Amino acid sequence: MREKAAELAIVSNKSFEASTAVNLHHFDISSALQTSLEFIELITIFCNKIQATIPHNSAEYVNGEFDLNFSRGVIGRHSCSYALKVEDQQLGELKLTRSQRFSKDELRMLESLLCCLIYPLKNATLFQKALQMAYTDPLTKTHNRTAFNDTLMREIIRANRCGQNLSLIFVDVDHFKSINDQYGHHCGDMALASVASWIKDSVRASDVVFRFGGEEFVILLADTNLESADTIAERVRSDIESHTLAYGMDVLNITASLGVSTLKDNDDTESLIKRADTAMYQAKQRGRNRVCLG
Ligand code: GH3
Ligand code: MG
Ligand code: MG
Repeated sequence: MREKAAELAIVSNKSFEASTAVNLHHFDISSALQTSLEFIELITIFCNKIQATIPHNSAEYVNGEFDLNFSRGVIGRHSCSYALKVEDQQLGELKLTRSQRFSKDELRMLESLLCCLIYPLKNATLFQKALQMAYTDPLTKTHNRTAFNDTLMREIIRANRCGQNLSLIFVDVDHFKSINDQYGHHCGDMALASVASWIKDSVRASDVVFRFGGEEFVILLADTNLESADTIAERVRSDIESHTLAYGMDVLNITASLGVSTLKDNDDTESLIKRADTAMYQAKQRGRNRVCLG
């Protein structure tokens, strides 16, 4: 009678211990990486976990798609870097440095451990893209009202904690209904997208533009007092006025009315918005195409 082959591989104790250690290390890293969907957190967890096995002085992570450029530690003379990729999806580039050269065994180990990082980074990419979509207005590509509510609450808390200024500019396009009535909704949509891009072009990258609703936008200015916010609002107003929009054979001139408010003691989201909104209505009443302070 033929004996059934046992599904057993014979390994020496030494190699068994080594592979167990490697597997445990993989398992430990993979478990830790399951706790986050944030790129920087994932990179930090990964680098901390591999520090004992692959000592390094600095780590740099660059992800062009999400505009990330993270680095920590002091850069050393020797480096190793990896373009991380899965199924043709770019996941950024990780670079480690230190003063001594990385050995072949260390690099082999690092490459094996990097496998633990790939899928968490892919999940983070999917999650961050979904988050971006949920927070972006599809027509104007500005942040939407949900993003505004979340951001304003966070920024008020931060400004109060750090003792910093926080200002808000309310922008309402003048007589926008007449653009729709005269040229149709398609033209109205084009005009809105153009106004949004003019606003974004006339503020700093750190100032965030939101579509509050309809033909109304809000600009959130961190660390900015009322006087500076007034200057920025005036620049936005003038930039909108100086642009023209070509639609077929027609040329449209667009203007907007703006209201400005700055965070005061005891302000909450509602009172800060209300002052900017009231100031914007004052600008309408005073003849439109102007800035009023709240
Ligand atoms: P005012 O100077 O007083 O602000 O006048 P207005 O016409 O801009 O204000 P009103 O509130 O009367 O009209 C706003 C118009 O904006 C009406 C609405 O149909 C239009 N609107 C809002 N959202 C959109 C959009 O996404 N696309 C288009 N095409 N029109 C929109
Ligand atoms: Mg309006
Ligand atoms: Mg309007």
